[in-house]
This record gives sequence, C-alpha cells and structure tokens, in this order.
Amino acid sequence: MRLVLLGPPGAGKGTQAKRIVESFSIPQLSTGDMLREAVAEGTASGLLVKHMMDHGELVPDDVVISVIANRIDHPDAANGFILDGFPRTVAQAEALDQELAARGIRLDAVLELEVDEDVLLDRIKGRATVAASRGEPVRRDDNPEVFKTRLEVYREQTAPVTEYYRARGLLDIVDGLQPIDAVTEQLAAVLAALPSHWIRSDVR
Ligand code: AMP
Repeated sequence: MRLVLLGPPGAGKGTQAKRIVESFSIPQLSTGDMLREAVAEGTASGLLVKHMMDHGELVPDDVVISVIANRIDHPDAANGFILDGFPRTVAQAEALDQELAARGIRLDAVLELEVDEDVLLDRIKGRATVAASRGEPVRRDDNPEVFKTRLEVYREQTAPVTEYYRARGLLDIVDGLQPIDAVTEQLAAVLAALPSHWIRSDVR
C-alpha cells in the first residue's frame, strides 16, 4: 500500500499517518521529520535547509526528492509507505512518479485532509501551547507569523498538487475538521474501498 497524505500544515497529517502506520504496518515517511533530523545532526544538508525551514519556506525540490528516493529503498518500505509532507510541489509529484516507475511500482491512493485556514491558525497556536506546557520543545516554525507563511506557501505551491492527483484519479478528500477518530474512520473506509488486489498484494 503506497499512499500520499496531503493537507495544509496543522491539518493533522502526522496524527493520521501514525494511525495508518499501525493499521497497515507500513512506515510513515515524513520529509519534515527527516529534514529536522538532518538539522539536529548538523549535516551539511541540514545546515543548508535550516534557515528555509525556520522561515516556513520550502526547501529545494532536488533536496527532498533525493531524501525520499533514498528512503523508499530501505527494506522497511518494501511493502509500502505513507508519505507525509511530500510531495509539496508539482515538480516533486512528477519526480515521485518517475522514481516509483523506475522501481516498477506506483501509488495506490492520495488522501487529502481538507481544513479551513482560520481553524488551522487556532490549531497551531494550541499545538505550541501544549508543547510548551509539557516542557517539550516548540517547533520554531509553529509560531503564528511563520505559520502564515507556511499557509501561503501551501496555497501557492502545494495546492496544485491536489489537481495533479485528481487528474490521475488517485485523489480522495476527507473533512479534516471532524474529530480525530472520525477522520481516521473515514480514511480507513477510503482505504478499505481500494481495489482488493492492491491490498492483497501489498499489505502483509
Ligand atoms: P512539515 O513538518 O511537513 O510541516 O515540514 C516542515 C518544513 O520542512 C517545511 O515548512 C519545509 O521548510 C520543509 N519541508 C518538509 N517537506 C518538504 C517538501 N516536500 N518540500 C519542501 N520543503 C519541505
């Protein structure tokens, strides 16, 4: 089962991806998490992208494409994966298609969490407050100013990815404003309705 999870920042992609991971025993491949690890390790590519991430801008396509191309070759992704936060541009979506085709595989579905922008701003403020109250580190890009940039970037560069997948008949949209469990249930229903041969051959 090879999936893409789309949706604006703060839509709950990470939370839902983790639940899908548990149900289907496939890894969650989050480019944001991988980039944050690279930044924390102080690698050359980490230092290069840190500034862009802190300001809510996208890092260059070639950087994330090579990160994902390497990651999908790891043994744990052999039976599938859920991409969280990738692709974020049409160029990334095209590159992903090419990388998958070169391996003789393809996406099974693209799930989008649709959420109103005003609600997102409230959510992101809540996320920062909860993290701070637990003594956990608050993401530098989880402040309202940077978040606005992230939303703009989403609207301009990532929203066209929805159309890319709609045109290919892969897109399913779920209302991300529902309670978390209801969103999970709806995503599960979409996945259960996928043609069974995909499920049987890909999920063990
Ligand atoms: P996320 O955790 O998915 O919200 O990503 C955090 C930040 O990492 C984003 O604001 C971007 O700066 C960068 N990033 C993550 N994924 C991508 C991507 N697919 N393309 C470009 N930049 C990305």
